Amino acid sequence: MKIYVEKFGGASVNSADAVKNVEKILSAETKKRVVVISAMGKTTNKLENIVNLWFNERKFFQKQFDELKTYHTNIIQQLFNNTKDSNKAEELINIIEKIFQELKQKIQITPSSDYNFLYDSIVSFGERISTTIVSFYLNSAGLKNKLIHAYHIIKTDNNYRDANINWNQTQLEIDSKVIPLLDEYDLIITQGFVGGTKENLQTTLGREGSDYSAAVLSHCLNATSMTVWKDVPGLLNADPKRVSETVKILSMPYTEAVELSYYGASIIHPKTIKPLENAKIPLFIKSFLQPSEEGTVICESENVKPIVPNFIFKDNQILLSIVPKDLSFATERVLSEIFRLLAKHKIKVNMMQNSAISFSVCFDENLNILPSLINDLEKEFFVRYNKGLQLVTIRHYSNEAINKAIHERKILIEQKSRITAQYLLD
Ligand code: ASP
Ligand code: MG
Repeated sequence: MKIYVEKFGGASVNSADAVKNVEKILSAETKKRVVVISAMGKTTNKLENIVNLWFNERKFFQKQFDELKTYHTNIIQQLFNNTKDSNKAEELINIIEKIFQELKQKIQITPSSDYNFLYDSIVSFGERISTTIVSFYLNSAGLKNKLIHAYHIIKTDNNYRDANINWNQTQLEIDSKVIPLLDEYDLIITQGFVGGTKENLQTTLGREGSDYSAAVLSHCLNATSMTVWKDVPGLLNADPKRVSETVKILSMPYTEAVELSYYGASIIHPKTIKPLENAKIPLFIKSFLQPSEEGTVICESENVKPIVPNFIFKDNQILLSIVPKDLSFATERVLSEIFRLLAKHKIKVNMMQNSAISFSVCFDENLNILPSLINDLEKEFFVRYNKGLQLVTIRHYSNEAINKAIHERKILIEQKSRITAQYLLD
């Protein structure tokens, strides 16, 4: 049986029209599909705010909560704006209303001494709500489908907020729960980003993790291909919001995609490529606005086509400079202690540099974690940091490309290898 995995991100379901467009794309072709859907629009950010406020100040963010509910309710009303559909709208609004009630209770009763655990149990609601709406709508529009909750099939450990896949268990669940359903249904819908522990507690796979969910499913289903539907025509050599005149990459080897995502190319989640590469499953990146246009394919190939400088910008970077209090040299022992603490606080290092007595490390700003990291480090080290920096990475760089990216800004760290140039800018 040929099975296709497709993923629709937040921007592709951020309004009623967007959801209708998903319906159009899916009904254009009949094939066996497992479709992964993200939270609608900026829902995940809003849920993060709600979690942070509760965790830090024990305040319930009523306004943000009401906005989220209104946002989803409006989408439902617009999806069913024909009078003949008003029962449907009501039925779905009731379902969603119950989920929101559950969310509200959960925020206030979940023991919140563990930020990561609280985060996953709350933030995963975004995907639960979006898939409930999309699945219901598609069924009413005649596209018969079955919604399966990701926490039943994507099994993980309990490393909340960045959970690791339990591959054996996930394979078993997919073989026993998903494959048989595909006999009856051409379309199965599930949540991206979300997984479940063996006790069925909610976990998440890291921000923007829906691509990874789709890749895990593709791997375990031995899919024919995976398609990610985006608001861009494919993989571009830079974010068009930052760089004028971008170029579309037509095809790219898996290895290059791994490099790009490692450096922070936001179009692909870093863990996405490996499960696909292992099973040689091609990944298509296509525009949901122009679904018939050819996008980008990432597959087993020799070279990037075309080869052009590829720019990756990461904002809100922190540069932490760490100096041992006894001014001992930055030796293996000192470095391993620093890395132990970085790992303990789940910091992902984007760039690092060491000198004889200091070690500098750059990572994404996260104000919930930074104070406790610094606190731990300060037992043995002097710590200073700069924030609000930008990290620019250019693959296949040229002098012209570097000048374009830096623009006379102050360079704090520069690193160059044969193919990659990186600049940390103030
Ligand atoms: N909704 C999640 C996020 O915004 C996961 C995803 O979209 O991939 O991070
Ligand atoms: Mg998203």
